[in-house]
Amino acid sequence: MRFAPLARKLSACALALALTTFCVTQLHAQRLPETAIPSHYSLTLTPDLVAATFTGQESIDLTLTEPSNHITLNALEISFHTISATVGGKTLPATFSLDEEKAQATFQFGEPLPAGPVKLNISYSGILNNKLRGFYLSKTAKRNYAVTQFESTDARRAYPSFDEPAFKATYDVTLIVDDGDTAISNSPIKTDTPGPIKGKHTIAFETTPKMSTYLVAFLVGDFQCTSGSADGVAIRVCATPDKVALTHYGVGVAEYVLKYYNNYFGIPYPLKKLDLIGLPDFEAGAMENFGAITYRETALLIDEKTATLGAKQQVELVIAHEMAHQWFGDLVTMKWWDNIWLNEGFATWMENKAVAHQHPDWDIDQEVAQGLDGTLNLDSQPTTHAIRATANTPHEIEQMFDGISYGKGGAVLHMVENFLGEETFRQGVHNYLSKHLYGNATAEDFWSAQTETSKQPIDKIMDSFISQPGVPLLTFGEDSHGKVAVDQHRFYSTPSISADPKQKWTIPVCFLTEEAKHCEILTPDQTTIEAPKSKVFFANAGGTGYYRSTYPAKVYDKILASAETKLTPVERIMFSGDEWAQVRANKATVGDYLNLVTALKSDPNQAVLSSAVSGAQGIYTRVASTKEERDALSAWVRKNFAAEYAKLPAPSPSDSPNTIKMRSQLFGLLGVYGNDPTVLKQAAELTNKYLDGSTSVDPTMAQTATYISARNGDTVLFDKLQKIYETSTNPERQETALRLLAMFQDPVLLKRALDYALTDKVRNQDSLIQFAIGLQRDETRAITWQYIQDNWEKLKKEVTPEMGGILVGSTGSFCSAEDRNAVTAFFAAHPVPATERALKHATDSINSCIEFRTLQEPNLKQWIAAQK
Ligand SMILES: [Zn+2]
Repeated sequence: MRFAPLARKLSACALALALTTFCVTQLHAQRLPETAIPSHYSLTLTPDLVAATFTGQESIDLTLTEPSNHITLNALEISFHTISATVGGKTLPATFSLDEEKAQATFQFGEPLPAGPVKLNISYSGILNNKLRGFYLSKTAKRNYAVTQFESTDARRAYPSFDEPAFKATYDVTLIVDDGDTAISNSPIKTDTPGPIKGKHTIAFETTPKMSTYLVAFLVGDFQCTSGSADGVAIRVCATPDKVALTHYGVGVAEYVLKYYNNYFGIPYPLKKLDLIGLPDFEAGAMENFGAITYRETALLIDEKTATLGAKQQVELVIAHEMAHQWFGDLVTMKWWDNIWLNEGFATWMENKAVAHQHPDWDIDQEVAQGLDGTLNLDSQPTTHAIRATANTPHEIEQMFDGISYGKGGAVLHMVENFLGEETFRQGVHNYLSKHLYGNATAEDFWSAQTETSKQPIDKIMDSFISQPGVPLLTFGEDSHGKVAVDQHRFYSTPSISADPKQKWTIPVCFLTEEAKHCEILTPDQTTIEAPKSKVFFANAGGTGYYRSTYPAKVYDKILASAETKLTPVERIMFSGDEWAQVRANKATVGDYLNLVTALKSDPNQAVLSSAVSGAQGIYTRVASTKEERDALSAWVRKNFAAEYAKLPAPSPSDSPNTIKMRSQLFGLLGVYGNDPTVLKQAAELTNKYLDGSTSVDPTMAQTATYISARNGDTVLFDKLQKIYETSTNPERQETALRLLAMFQDPVLLKRALDYALTDKVRNQDSLIQFAIGLQRDETRAITWQYIQDNWEKLKKEVTPEMGGILVGSTGSFCSAEDRNAVTAFFAAHPVPATERALKHATDSINSCIEFRTLQEPNLKQWIAAQK
């Protein structure tokens, strides 16, 4: 699964309000007994798109491991009609009882069924809900669609099932749909015949391979597709008919990625077809259903000619992410949800690899380094958790889908790959997958395969990063005859928290040398490390180390002096990130950091500049509390970056991706933080031209310009954006326009945007994101928070699994004790289900900001005084 846009690095949340009371307090596991093992499902479903209901005929072939007079499986919001079991030619009826708390149904038989094969026959009905999960209704202005989203625990809403990832089975799916409609499922269509009644036709799909319940998909409506193929696999990108023109870009990407993965994994894509479908209502970013991947429209459907560079990259990364899951997740699945990182960490790491291979000029490695830096910051907070954590209830499982499982999981894999070398690591991946095809696996299975293949202690390294929370800080001493003193302890970005001295890691540490990099394994007991001879001592060669480093002043100065010549852009990103971490830990001052940014201001790589500047933006928003301080920082921005911006050539179609992003980055920096009057004027002009339909404006620049303009925008601009949102058939343009509405500083317009977010015009998948945006920005935070409190009864109706977590998590942008108390008091009185972790994390962020400001604001004042 992939996060919704803007949701990355924020915790997900889970179940709907109706289930709150018992799930929160429930501590015991909800696992099914292991006495009934399913092997095959036959499912015939008839959805009624107008009445929003469906009926189902199901048979499940299973094996009883012991005689039993009852069988328990998962079912939720299902009405059972008839239930029976066929055993040895005899059919036995059953009664049923429901345990709603566990989302389980137990079928009771009049006599014990013998151990061995049993066929369960179930007829039932259900609802096409509006909760964006299970079998649900997705709508356009013209009509309804019936679609599915089952991960993690919602297949049970569509068909009674043994709804746990280790109960893999094959499927024969049949869908009875209206004439004129089509249906998409995991495998190709086998037969399509008229009937059973007038106005309907029956689509039967080929038998699937063995797969987990959460990967099954059924999609019904008038979808239209563009076709392609790669390595003999039929590929289609599908959408509602009004958006079929936007499906071409995705076909090309999927074709490329499929070939790349076939080659990388050394295991061909196992199905005959692969469909990628954009859905009008979709909560996450995308979902990796085996052979039928579903997407939020903005994550799949773009117009190549008008899309921003960022949108193209996003689409490619999401496609590559979900396709990686076809192997990592679908073909080989984690045994249980505590190892969800095996799916998500892997897909996060792999998506970058595939896209970097296709687009070397996109500098994906630098974006990965920025991501790693962000993950290290997240994992330096006291409320972080280990990658592998206990998750038993649906609430706990939903909360596993966060920046740690994705970002840290991916980062640890990348570190191990950098240490072993690409080919050795790839061989280990191949061996792991080959051993568990169509089966399930654990973290141990993965690192055992890597350890066996490489003959290196990968098990020790990975275990220390997967099972322990937090980030190691390596403090290096002076070089003494080739030996360098090193201390490791857990790093916290909040200085008032001290680390447990016993927590240690086994870490591959890679050094810069004059030729190839040189790596050593640092074990928990080691206090010195062999460092190779080199002009610059830099202990994160390749920039993939999952740790922070700090050096003696003389060594640091030497690295800084030769950063541009000796360090790669990726290494410079990690170097400035380490310095920012030192500021957060109160070991360096904001002045030191601003001086570092000044030194890096002419860096030719946009990603390096962007990482360095993000710390400066943090100083502006988190440390500066007065107008005078912010004005001084704005003046510093103009003084240092206006000239850099002026140096860039005028936009041209032959611009490199780096130039496109650099121009937009500097323009945004000067417009938002520099309040540069020339840039503000240019932004207004570009915005008007772009919104009036001019195609001569570079879309990436136009997006930044509209952002700058919206912050200072008036009613005319607001109306224009709202109209684009309501009338455009381009999901990227629509989404951008909608998001901008929540960024207007004018209180009347901001309130209008928030009112609008709660109307039927804004999809459920987007409503709460508007409030999260309002909370995340300084200039809109207070009004948005007041609005949320005043309108909670309306807002809480919009809470869905992921969105509640995003909303609660966004309150972490506050930076005062008074606001923290207000936030915790409010959510104590108005609890949002499955957001315990998000709320803790938000409180933690606020506390950490208060401490940061208290410690560093005097340093900022001093630095400002020294600038005069
Ligand atoms: Zn995923």
